[in-house]
Amino acid sequence: MHKQAVILYGPPGAGKGTQAELLARRYGFVHFDGGRVIEAIVHAPGAEKSSVLRRQRALFDSGKMCDPEWFLGTVKEMSARIAGSGSSVVFSGAFRTDFEVFGGNGRKGLLETLIKLYGKKNVHVVMLSIPPKDSIHRNSLRKVCTVCGLQQLPGSKHPRCLFCDGPMRVRSLDSPSVIKERLKVYHAKAVPILTKLKRHGVRVVTVRGTSAPYKVFQGVLKALKLPPLQLKK
Ligand SMILES: [Zn+2]
Repeated sequence: MHKQAVILYGPPGAGKGTQAELLARRYGFVHFDGGRVIEAIVHAPGAEKSSVLRRQRALFDSGKMCDPEWFLGTVKEMSARIAGSGSSVVFSGAFRTDFEVFGGNGRKGLLETLIKLYGKKNVHVVMLSIPPKDSIHRNSLRKVCTVCGLQQLPGSKHPRCLFCDGPMRVRSLDSPSVIKERLKVYHAKAVPILTKLKRHGVRVVTVRGTSAPYKVFQGVLKALKLPPLQLKK
């Protein structure tokens, strides 16, 4: 099986994190969650010694986007390390801007890096599609453990975290008004990127994201030409 670089797209609540995590657990992909990776880097012990990381940390902690050139450089460096270790990679929360994907100002974007590392035919974009009303509904039900950060699946009735029994909370970025704003940003930015990716000859497959995560996962596996799971009857 050829190693793959997979980029998951989809509106907030489409299940990008869940599908990436399933690929990581069942098929050994490295799950690259842009937000989490950046958080880990800027909060790593010793990071305060670097003026660059201090600046990125201030931006990150205030909810702003980190410096795009720094972000791009960091993601490219880490992608090279992952590919060098012989692993497939799945991105769940990177690739948000045209600059990140296609580059500019004399810098190559992530797409070119991934094509160089994995080969064009092994770079796949999977678009998880859910209607806006589902996006708003799912996110308003999404709860996160205040202790371990585990996300509860939408619709779960458990008041406590299933992993550590910690109290759960709704994230402020998941309130309906914020979701509507995030949806607008998603459509304004992601749709043109997807169109441009297709023009560059990158394979983009749409998978319906409305059913249960394990069923969506079968669709993702099919899109990636990976063997389907044998489910117990
Ligand atoms: Zn927990």
